[in-house]
Amino acid sequence: MNPYISNWIKIIWNCSFDNTYKMAWAKALVEIAISNNKQAKVVIPFDDIAEKFLKYYWNQTIYFDLTQGANLKKPPEILTYTKDLIFEYQQVTGTMQPIRFEKVDFNKLKLNNSYIKTIRKIGNTLKNDVCWRFLNLDKKAYPLYELNKSNRIVTLHQSQVESIKAYYESLLPIINYRWTQMLESFNFAPRISKKVRAIDEDNVRRKSLTKFRKYLDTTNDKEKRVCFYCGEQMQNDEISIDHVIPWSFIFADDLWNLVYCHKSENSKKSNRLPVEADIQKLENRNLKLVESMRKADKTNSKHYDQLQLAIEKDYVRQFWISFKG
Ligand SMILES: [Zn+2]
Repeated sequence: MNPYISNWIKIIWNCSFDNTYKMAWAKALVEIAISNNKQAKVVIPFDDIAEKFLKYYWNQTIYFDLTQGANLKKPPEILTYTKDLIFEYQQVTGTMQPIRFEKVDFNKLKLNNSYIKTIRKIGNTLKNDVCWRFLNLDKKAYPLYELNKSNRIVTLHQSQVESIKAYYESLLPIINYRWTQMLESFNFAPRISKKVRAIDEDNVRRKSLTKFRKYLDTTNDKEKRVCFYCGEQMQNDEISIDHVIPWSFIFADDLWNLVYCHKSENSKKSNRLPVEADIQKLENRNLKLVESMRKADKTNSKHYDQLQLAIEKDYVRQFWISFKG
């Protein structure tokens, strides 16, 4: 193995599980190095790295609200800056619908100032906490790049860029694997590696829930559909289908977790976990639903099987308890 790449792997493999900064830093440098076409050294301003950080954390937060540090009382500050910007985005657009960072037009939303401020703040953290720490392991410094802290730049020399280009197909999966392991130690939510991969491959697609209507309708009459949360009858244009335990936790559409409710209540809920009374209500609803699906002769589907399994295995409560932590 190329000794320079061995050192990269050594650092990635041995860094402590305090937070995910080092993984984001490593990933950003590798991505920037391989996207460069020139046969020369690559000079990387901290701002470019900060933008990558913002992209990674934005996407992992807005879809799945993943915790990026071991100390739950004091989240890593870059995550806090990212969340502040997401909050501003939600205020300005009035939507809780998640969106990939790459698709947000900060200029058009007149959020360019906030964006620049966020990049600057992330850059400060990179300068103070990340850029030099990454090179140190067991009181030894590894020369993976040249660092100019005061000018906020990282330089990768030509031979280093060439090595990274030759080995990135091994490096990136190792970085992602370590990052995922960290997230699994910080987060209670399931399917972390599936989530991280989906974000990485731009594969987070939320499918239409219309196909569940015919099942939900068996217990919640088409003519007068009732809202799961407030119990009132809804007008046709107010109806939405909601994941009682948020999609960002479950990362799947399961009939046992889906209900009709007012659109307005759905968008207000965002990614919060339900209260126990709603869990109880959902358990009762599922018992009724399985019964009414039987009566309506809609038992020949995987959704019926899954619903029955969920009741037998007590999924609603099990999931809820595990997410509460
Ligand atoms: Zn309602």
